[in-house]
Amino acid sequence: MVRKLATVALILVLAGCQTDRPASPARDGEGAVGRASISTQNANDSRIAKTLFGAMSFASAQPPEAIGGFSRGCQAGAVQLPESGPTWQAMRLSRNRNWAQPVTVQFVQDLSRFAATQPGWAGLYIGDMSQPRGGPMLTGHASHQTGLDADIWMLPPRRLDLSRQEREDLSSIRMDRSSGAYVNGDWSAQHMAILRAAASDPRVNRIFVFAGAKVAMCDAETGDRTWLNKIRPWYGHNYHFHVRLNCPAGARGCEPQAAIPPGDGCEDARQWVRDILNPPPPDPNAPPPRPRGELTMAALPGQCLNVLNSN
Ligand SMILES: [Zn+2]
Repeated sequence: MVRKLATVALILVLAGCQTDRPASPARDGEGAVGRASISTQNANDSRIAKTLFGAMSFASAQPPEAIGGFSRGCQAGAVQLPESGPTWQAMRLSRNRNWAQPVTVQFVQDLSRFAATQPGWAGLYIGDMSQPRGGPMLTGHASHQTGLDADIWMLPPRRLDLSRQEREDLSSIRMDRSSGAYVNGDWSAQHMAILRAAASDPRVNRIFVFAGAKVAMCDAETGDRTWLNKIRPWYGHNYHFHVRLNCPAGARGCEPQAAIPPGDGCEDARQWVRDILNPPPPDPNAPPPRPRGELTMAALPGQCLNVLNSN
């Protein structure tokens, strides 16, 4: 079994950043799917969930709640991150993905305030959070479904008065070289300070970033290393990092992801880098990758039908 999991992880490494399927517990990626929720009201609902949730333009008139798993859920009562604030701007407004649970919106604002204390940083550019009612998306992410995920650009904001059009046109910058094995010359102590602040926040469950960045931080940290535990190497995440929050207290329908193994995770990240630089040969006995099916409404928790049908 251990070997099988290792094989799956290996396939994922070879598949590169196109995938964010769950891997072994040690490599517990962005797309990790929680346990399936039991529901009856939508048990035979074969409608494609992303089509329905992708069409919702505003939040449900319900109390805030993160429902289901990060890659198999939805959100009730979301709030919208204001398009601009004193220390942040939401990017790519046309996507309408600046919605999240209140705790996430608060966290992003708090982190942006810290970022603004860093030399060269006016605050943060905020990428995708979730759709107004969460759920699967027509394009992009497998996760970001419950209003507890936020992508944060690595590009240090020089100004926070970008127009709507500029927020469509501007791109973040990549921080890696050698396919994510190392950081490049744009990586800075400020990036590490912001990631350290994010990972030290008790609201944060984990942060996904490319393996070379994790190793760079492992090498640079001379003080307390406990925050490194929450920094998780993952595919992509070289133009942005991805913060995932814990299920809010009392959110009984929210499914937490499997716990991160103890320790700073630095050796795991170094192995990840070695696998990038010198990919192990594929296992001839590895099962073929399963095609990713579209999530139907029946695959989501029953409460998500209420979220969809709410005013
Ligand atoms: Zn993300």
